[in-house]
Amino acid sequence: MSEAQSIPGWRHIYSGKVRDLYASEDPSDTRLLVVASDRVSAFDFVLSPGIPQKGELLTTLSTWWFEKLDDVPNHIAEGEIPDAVAGRAMLAMALDMLPIECVVRGYITGSGWAEYVESGTVCGIPLPAGLKNGDRLPEPLFTPAYKAPMGEHDENITFERVVELVGAERAAQLRDVSLDTYRRAAEIAESHGLILADTKFEFGVDADGVLRLADEVLTSDSSRYWDAETWRTGATPEARMASFDKQIVRDWLAANWDKQGEPPALPTDIVERTADRYRELIDRLKG
Ligand code: ATP
Ligand code: MG
Repeated sequence: MSEAQSIPGWRHIYSGKVRDLYASEDPSDTRLLVVASDRVSAFDFVLSPGIPQKGELLTTLSTWWFEKLDDVPNHIAEGEIPDAVAGRAMLAMALDMLPIECVVRGYITGSGWAEYVESGTVCGIPLPAGLKNGDRLPEPLFTPAYKAPMGEHDENITFERVVELVGAERAAQLRDVSLDTYRRAAEIAESHGLILADTKFEFGVDADGVLRLADEVLTSDSSRYWDAETWRTGATPEARMASFDKQIVRDWLAANWDKQGEPPALPTDIVERTADRYRELIDRLKG
């Protein structure tokens, strides 16, 4: 999976599904170089081909949001980005990452919708009867997932399980910071005519024990964004959830693959539409 490249002064140390991490060759420099690739994943599988320019678009979005929410401690470190990865990399503090995907849902869809249909709950939290796919929830919910080791699938967990994994105090902090950050971001998105339906945050802890927002933030990979006007007027759930994210990829894959063996290659029009939607999201937010 690794398409890591050689970057003078930096040593490749890890590749996730989308990002490649590099450490400095200078042992006194503890920063990480986090490089976003054009790789796209759905249902925890990396697909091919990639989405042209996705690495740049993700980095632009994360950077924009880290700045907007700069009173939430984050992992951004000072310094020059190497030319070889200009536009698609961030310098970050190397944090001790917590193995929790801090998902917040303001609207019900995706795996949350699937669980609701099955049992009337999301991550074990009971919800009112009669909700439709894409409806707004009475209030935003913290619905954490356990970040599975490479090759395994993330699994939704209860808040009690988060307490077991990171302790009561850290768990409460993760929940509160996640909900608060979601609310603020949703308000900003709303002022640009966008609904932030849900999002996923990852946090790490620095050497002083400070909790910091890490990885990517509020991107079209980690979040569902819908057009607010279309959501209000759309006749069907599908029409309401016209999205600016990789839902196009998820929907195509769900309709064309039974999740056995290797996923099929993405057709060109799906790749192009996804790239267009990512670009449109940035134009809407920054415009
Ligand atoms: P996995 O780690 O399971 O491969 P992923 O596919 O989501 O998950 P990516 O998001 O592509 O991975 O890769 C980014 C990796 O870098 C993640 O493992 C993430 O936890 C880690 N990471 C991000 N920011 C930091 C940081 N500041 N310090 C240490 N690790 C970080
Ligand atoms: Mg990730």
